[in-house]
Formats: sequence, structure tokens, C-alpha cells
Amino acid sequence: MQLKEPASMDECIYFTNRTIGTGKIKAWVFREICPKCGKRLMGKPKDEKTGKVKIRAGKYVCPECLYAAEKQEYEDSLTVNIRYTCPHCSHSGEVQQSFKRRKIQRFNEETGKKETVEAVRFQCEKCKQNIDLTKKMK
Ligand SMILES: [Zn+2]
Ligand SMILES: [Zn+2]
Repeated sequence: MQLKEPASMDECIYFTNRTIGTGKIKAWVFREICPKCGKRLMGKPKDEKTGKVKIRAGKYVCPECLYAAEKQEYEDSLTVNIRYTCPHCSHSGEVQQSFKRRKIQRFNEETGKKETVEAVRFQCEKCKQNIDLTKKMK
């Protein structure tokens, strides 16, 4: 499998490039064509006055037919592309899976406590251990 990388951030609704321990994760979600009219890419609405994308908007809209989808539900229906270097075995691989984030309980080594995080969990194709792509906390 050879994942297609985005040529620009405009093609994505999500993009991250981060290190986790000794590993690395680069992940992105492409914008997709409107499921209603099939003409334009869905995206966050733009501010009518400034023309800037409203990043914090709770919906995605189609600029053509104005179909709107609730943010969480819409993102859950998309596919995330992940290119990683495994923090457990250093294997470099690629995966594609649902962008639906799940609540995951894990042990935080920094605080010494259990915590619940929202993450896309995937398995290293070589060592089969879990790797979590956590949602960034603001
Ligand atoms: Zn549309
Ligand atoms: Zn591994």
C-alpha cells in the first residue's frame, strides 16, 4: 500500500505530524466530496465578511448545495491515513482506518495515573502492539 500524501493543507480536514516516544506518526484525513450533490468538497463554513474558514465551527458544509453535517458525526465517517514509525519495534508502516475516535483508558507515565483519552487506536503491522493517535487537548 502506498498512501497518497496531501499536496497542501487545503486538501485535508485533519493533519498531524508528531513524535510519540521513540516513534513518529504522520496522519491526515482528506476532505471528501459532498454526499448529497457530489459536486464540491465538504469543508468548514467560511465567514461571509472575511472569507476566512471558521475553524471552530461545529459543522461541515457543502459550498454548492449548502448541505451541512454535524462535525463529530461527519468526521467519524471519514478515513484517516497514517504513516508511522512504531515506538515499540521501530518498524515503519502505513495504515488506513476509520477516523472514528474512541475513549481509551491508559496509564500516563508522567502523572502516574490512569487517564481517559480520545484516540484513534491502530496496531503496528509488525509487532501488533497498539499505537494511539490521541486527540490534542487544547
Ligand atoms: Zn453538495
Ligand atoms: Zn511495532
